[in-house]
Amino acid sequence: MKRSIILSILCFSFLTGCSQHSEEISVDYFSLIRPEFTGKIAYETTDFVEDYWRVVGNTGFNKTIYLIADSLQAAGYVLEENAKAEDRLTYRIEKRAMDNQTWEPISASLQIAGTEKPLLLSETNRNMTYLNSVSTPKEGIKAELVWIKSVDDLNTISVKGKVVFAELKARQIYKIAIEKGAIGIITYDNPDYLQPEKNKTSIQFRSLPSQNDTNFWGIALSYEAKEKLTAKLKKGSTEVMVNIQTKRYPSEELTIIANIKGSVLPDERLVYSAHIQEPGANDNATGVGAQLEMAKTAAKLYSESKIEFDRTMTFLWGDEIISTRRYIEEDSKRAKGIKWGISLDMVGENTAITGGTFLIEKMPDPSAIWTRGNDKHSEWGGDVLSIEDMKPHYLNDFILSTFKKQGKHANWVVETNPFEGGSDHTPFLKANIPGLLLWHFTDQFYHTDNDRIDKVSQETLKNVGTAALVSGLELVNAGSNFALNQISDLERRAIERLENEFQLSLKAIKTGEKIDDEIVILRAWEDWYKKAIATVKDVVPNTDNTVSSAIKKAHLNISSKSNEFTKSLSETK
Ligand SMILES: [Zn+2]
Repeated sequence: MKRSIILSILCFSFLTGCSQHSEEISVDYFSLIRPEFTGKIAYETTDFVEDYWRVVGNTGFNKTIYLIADSLQAAGYVLEENAKAEDRLTYRIEKRAMDNQTWEPISASLQIAGTEKPLLLSETNRNMTYLNSVSTPKEGIKAELVWIKSVDDLNTISVKGKVVFAELKARQIYKIAIEKGAIGIITYDNPDYLQPEKNKTSIQFRSLPSQNDTNFWGIALSYEAKEKLTAKLKKGSTEVMVNIQTKRYPSEELTIIANIKGSVLPDERLVYSAHIQEPGANDNATGVGAQLEMAKTAAKLYSESKIEFDRTMTFLWGDEIISTRRYIEEDSKRAKGIKWGISLDMVGENTAITGGTFLIEKMPDPSAIWTRGNDKHSEWGGDVLSIEDMKPHYLNDFILSTFKKQGKHANWVVETNPFEGGSDHTPFLKANIPGLLLWHFTDQFYHTDNDRIDKVSQETLKNVGTAALVSGLELVNAGSNFALNQISDLERRAIERLENEFQLSLKAIKTGEKIDDEIVILRAWEDWYKKAIATVKDVVPNTDNTVSSAIKKAHLNISSKSNEFTKSLSETK
């Protein structure tokens, strides 16, 4: 179902544009980008943005938008409303009314009554206050703390006028806690990948829904604070002093979009997307910064006539998933021309400190159904997909091979993970537009108040930004040569994949797996790669017989390898 929709969109864009395609020039984009892209702008932008706890409409979010605008302007992008027809580099800030008030934290403290020092202070733990918490009275409150060990406890233990403590997720308890008259919640539920017993002071940020009629607050604890608080609770009745000050006020939602207009196929485009909201440095001040340096580097090289853009390159900064989804959904004509989407999210990690590696999260391929061999999910985790979810496309292998070139050049580790979702690549995929994610995981400081600038590496920002921009330039200028290169690369990778899967299946059969099930896996990869190879047609006119016959030849070679392996599997004893 899904694939046929992709193909019809691709044919449409081809019909409207590819016949005018200019002659493809082969450019070594790495040699042009590497001397320019130092990661300095990306790092400095990250440093500015990470100072703020960002959510749509608040001070930090909007300051980020205007910083990007000023920086784009300085690089030669013209505000759309002032742009002349010949201006190829433009930007705009979209403003929208918000249904709910925006929010920002001011200060917070938590203290056990009868002790001398606060247990937590916002100066050292800025994620302690739940997003959307209201303020306590200025002088704070003192109240009894009630330990709730399960949701059911809220039906048997009185919490009216009291504060609830639970080692549960807020969404499991906050509604009923409000109904029962509790004034706030204090929770602890840090996941194991944060290594809480080692990173004792980290608090992973937590949220309440936007509050209009309620007056509720939440405090999330670090492991250390949780240990101290539970020790006190075990001794008997405990009172806490809580002072939370936050700001809630009407605002507007801003999104900033920059374009470098294509000279040949301006309605066809690549969209890069980076989300601004969330409090971290790596998540996602780095995506904001890397994407800004990409936009500025592209502008500089264009102004020096070193690069051209056949298709349009778009850079979008906004609210995660929401802004990207809206960009796709609100203009169906524009959406038809979006050929690729790339999400930059957590792209500047100093992995020596954060752990994990750089990852390319692939569009759904069979590794998201049968995750085995070298394929591994991140600790973020993913659902097991089915054949209907597959999105065969050349984008996965193309991006991987481009990033591997940077990896080899810079001695930098590039890995992949099967599709998991949760960032700006998902709206593209939902709309049947090829899309993937550039990110890092595991990060032992993910979503915590220890995700600060000291965990960010300019070197990583440089590597990701360079490879992402090179990939984009190749895509927006892709023609027959690009298509032919992809066909031979994909054929080689398909055969490598079949060989690997064949070996894994042999082992699986020895451990009792059914032969037929193993054949299904190999056939799924064969099918995925054959379909992925056919998608290169989206960058060439369909009168291009060289490409068509290269596709046919690659299909035959893949089929014959697959037949050989499946025959061999079926003869396994
Ligand atoms: Zn993020």
